[in-house]
Amino acid sequence: MHTTLQKTFPAMGTVHTITLYGENHSELAERMKREVLRMDRAWSVFRDDSTLSKLNRSAGIAEVSVDDDTFALLKASVLLCKQTDGAFDVTSGALSSLWREAAKQGRTPEKAALQAAKKRVNASSIMLNETDRKAYLPAVGQTVDFGGIAKGFAADRLRAMLLSEGVSDALLNLGGTVTAIGQPVSIGVRNPFAPQSDPIGTLTVSNRSIVTSGSYERFYAIGGRRYHHILDPRTGYPSESGLVSVTLIGSNATELDALATGIFVLGVERGLPILKERNIDAIFVTITGEVLITETLKDMFSLRKDLCTA
Ligand code: ADP
Ligand code: MG
Repeated sequence: MHTTLQKTFPAMGTVHTITLYGENHSELAERMKREVLRMDRAWSVFRDDSTLSKLNRSAGIAEVSVDDDTFALLKASVLLCKQTDGAFDVTSGALSSLWREAAKQGRTPEKAALQAAKKRVNASSIMLNETDRKAYLPAVGQTVDFGGIAKGFAADRLRAMLLSEGVSDALLNLGGTVTAIGQPVSIGVRNPFAPQSDPIGTLTVSNRSIVTSGSYERFYAIGGRRYHHILDPRTGYPSESGLVSVTLIGSNATELDALATGIFVLGVERGLPILKERNIDAIFVTITGEVLITETLKDMFSLRKDLCTA
């Protein structure tokens, strides 16, 4: 029977939707959901019994045995930290928690506290023992948070599951991390300055993932001001690279997820060479409302005409 099956569920602090076209694949969709929930349990920093919580509690004390996926994601995170000059850093959690706590009290974190926390932000220092699958965070108080990369990793895993089952037509949307498999799909790219129903343009892609990092959705509201959630590990403050959003289009969602966050921090000029090297396309929206797109995206992206200015 020719069907479309859609499964929506909450995970990783957001909502995920799996759409499978073709035959009825409800058993596969259920397995995919379970796989994401398993990752969510392992990596949630809000669960005391998660692998990450155990790793974080053991920081500066002992190494911890981790499962293969956690090891792989730690390894990718360390590499991506180096490749972005430290702009993407999964140990930014020490800073995020200061911002979270301070926001609850209606203030910004103290400078001295941020300076102290910054010393614990350094993913390159994570020690990984490949043969024993053990990880060690060398500094007391160092914390890993996969919030900027886990959805990408999950997307790559789900795509691999689909391909190994011979499913060639599907659409994955893991909290905004979109992966199109098979037939081309058109996706509206959000205008950070307008409601969701009012996109800046349409992207038509197949067999690619699309990931956006932006400052407009999640933020700490402090004293009537918004402080967005992507922190610059070099300053300890929300990044100020002149961007409102970075949308990346490519084939490895793990890499795209991390790089979208990292390049949001680095800015256009420092980000472009990193993307070029990897054949990743990008749409940048700047704080002044400019939309910049990479050359090779021209045929895949149509900017809404009424937004173009002469
Ligand atoms: P979203 O999860 O909103 O799609 P991102 O993928 O950009 O956005 O990830 C943002 C999350 O990553 C934050 O909520 C925080 O947990 C974490 N984070 C914040 N700043 C950084 C950073 N410089 N490097 C890595 N992770 C970060
Ligand atoms: Mg990200």
